[in-house]
Amino acid sequence: MEKNREALPIDSQVLTFLKDAILFVHKDGTIIDGNQAAYSILDLDQLDGLSQSIYEYLDFDVLLDSSEAHLLLELQKRKGKLLEVKSLQLQNDIYCLLLQDFSVQDKADDIKRYINKLSNSIIEGIVLYGETDIIDCDDTCAEMFGYTRDEMKNMALSKLIDPRSYERFADFEHLSNEQVIELRGVRKDGSLFHIEMVEYPYTDKGSVVRVACIKDITERVENETRIEYMAYYDELTDLPNRNFFHKVLNEAVLQAQETEEFAVYFLDLDYFKEINDTLGYDFGDALLKACAKRLKSFQQVDTFIARMGGDEFLILQRNTTKETAVILAEQLIKEFEKPFKIADYEIYTTVSIGISVYPENGNSAQDLIKHADSAMYVIKGKQQNYYNIFESSISENFKAMLTMESEMRKALKLGHFELHYQPQKNLLKNEVVGVEALLRWNHPERGTIGPTEFIPLAEKTGLIIDIGDWVLVEACRQNKEWQNKGYRALTVSVNLSAKQFYQRKLVEKVEQILKDTRLDPQYLELEITESMAMSNEEEILKTLHGLRDLGVQVSIDDFGTGYSSFKYLSMFPISKLKIDKMFLNECQKENKAIVKSIIHMSHSLNMKVIAEGVETTEQFNFLANERCDEMQGFYLSKPLPPSELLPFFEY
Ligand code: C2E
Ligand code: MG
Ligand code: MG
Repeated sequence: MEKNREALPIDSQVLTFLKDAILFVHKDGTIIDGNQAAYSILDLDQLDGLSQSIYEYLDFDVLLDSSEAHLLLELQKRKGKLLEVKSLQLQNDIYCLLLQDFSVQDKADDIKRYINKLSNSIIEGIVLYGETDIIDCDDTCAEMFGYTRDEMKNMALSKLIDPRSYERFADFEHLSNEQVIELRGVRKDGSLFHIEMVEYPYTDKGSVVRVACIKDITERVENETRIEYMAYYDELTDLPNRNFFHKVLNEAVLQAQETEEFAVYFLDLDYFKEINDTLGYDFGDALLKACAKRLKSFQQVDTFIARMGGDEFLILQRNTTKETAVILAEQLIKEFEKPFKIADYEIYTTVSIGISVYPENGNSAQDLIKHADSAMYVIKGKQQNYYNIFESSISENFKAMLTMESEMRKALKLGHFELHYQPQKNLLKNEVVGVEALLRWNHPERGTIGPTEFIPLAEKTGLIIDIGDWVLVEACRQNKEWQNKGYRALTVSVNLSAKQFYQRKLVEKVEQILKDTRLDPQYLELEITESMAMSNEEEILKTLHGLRDLGVQVSIDDFGTGYSSFKYLSMFPISKLKIDKMFLNECQKENKAIVKSIIHMSHSLNMKVIAEGVETTEQFNFLANERCDEMQGFYLSKPLPPSELLPFFEY
């Protein structure tokens, strides 16, 4: 191999112009050429330098190990003098070395930065180029772009760079030494990847040769993007997460014009936990995704939708007022009333919404979210599938609910719950055949509290499971006690809430209670609602069959207020429909028609019908005429404590 300078890509003249220290060395160590800058770094006389061996100055072996290297070396002849050396194998045996005196840059931080960078240097490619075209590059660089080294030569450098990542590249000519820029590289096949480029200019303006180190940073950029994504997005639903929402909401608050108003919606799915517990997390996840998809359809320029976590979602709507905020809330509620189709199931999960409005309900992201949350909590405690706008009284209300929650726990321990029983009469036999157990709370200060006041809250907090267990045991125990006393055997109906009904081991639990109380299963009836029965065929069917196999009866309460499908009803082992009391309202003529058709339909499906809320003789006669099987209501009796019920065993 030639060791003379004819083999070099730059002529001696050019070299002398280069401000940076550059040397050309043969693989065996012989210095072929170099410029003054390089010689003075090595403390070497220019003329003496030629044909000398670089080994005298540097541990050059290390540099020859690969086609390119980037190292920090100590000058052999002077202890403590550090040189930064970049080497590029130009032709088979010729290396171009770029030297930089490091010891003069005595700033510790700088040195650290260099060492860090050097340790990463292995994956760096080096490219040598003129004004526009590539003169040469190393194999790493060629491979990185999918070319051979020969193909790269004489190619325009700009061909390697995605022009869209180019804005900063426009300044490329003015890059100061070692300025790192991030660009997108273009491979031979047209694919893009992320690169980091550091240019080491050799001359002043009008330079002929430049060297750039190029690093493939795709993995790092992707990781960063991923980390950023994880910091701001929810992985499951692809919606922005609560952090992102917080940030956007804070910005909205900061940028809000004087008269601007906007709304924050806090959405919470109804019955999500039950569905998740019954059908498993995969199913729950699929439902959340489906919900997110539905929410995304509400995405507009002035809405920002995020997942708060769990089954909670957040929406920011700009340009809206307290008055107009309800429009979106109503649309959302309607949208969520439609069933979700997941893995062949039709799932019903409605949504409860709390709303806070800026600036009236808070002037920080934190307050607005907190207030929307408490508005949601309060409405959910009263009625699911509804919305509620925050009012300052809600804070009070919210506190009151928290108090109530702890009081309910206490009540359960202290025995402050009580069951009242409302008789149910069979119209054909004209005798009382059953009683419905209705829960009462004897509050030490507030007196008797009805179930509509505390059951929704117990549902929300999950306390309903413990309360419901108590009700079941007590109703069965009481019924058995009556029978033991020799009264005519009646059926006791117990209301189940959704959470209770969706318990995995409900059937086993009921079986155990019947065993413990020694009540014959035929004298227990469980009341569920339409929406509970309609949410998932397979699991529900399993539970319903399990109960029927025990010998327990199941009825559908408040029938007509939900979304029953007769197809489902006919499939389910249901023994009775309870027509909701609202249909007995005589003011509406069509109600009579509805009651008639419910009675006829139930009979054709071999189900009994009971009408609840019967208050007048007229209603009673109408029902008897239509062959309704049973009735319950103030007409016969209000719900009574057990001690007052005895006369009804006579009828
Ligand atoms: P529900 O199961 O539909 O019970 C019937 C409700 O209607 C009872 O209200 C009863 O007092 C009332 N009612 C009875 N006859 C008449 C009438 O002629 N006219 C009118 N206007 N109302 C009548 P209550 O006791 O306040 O119970 C309300 C709801 O609370 C029940 O509705 C039931 O869904 C729930 N509930 C009651 N006890 C329990 C329980 O132990 N567990 C669960 N999960 N829910 C319960
Ligand atoms: Mg009931
Ligand atoms: Mg009812």
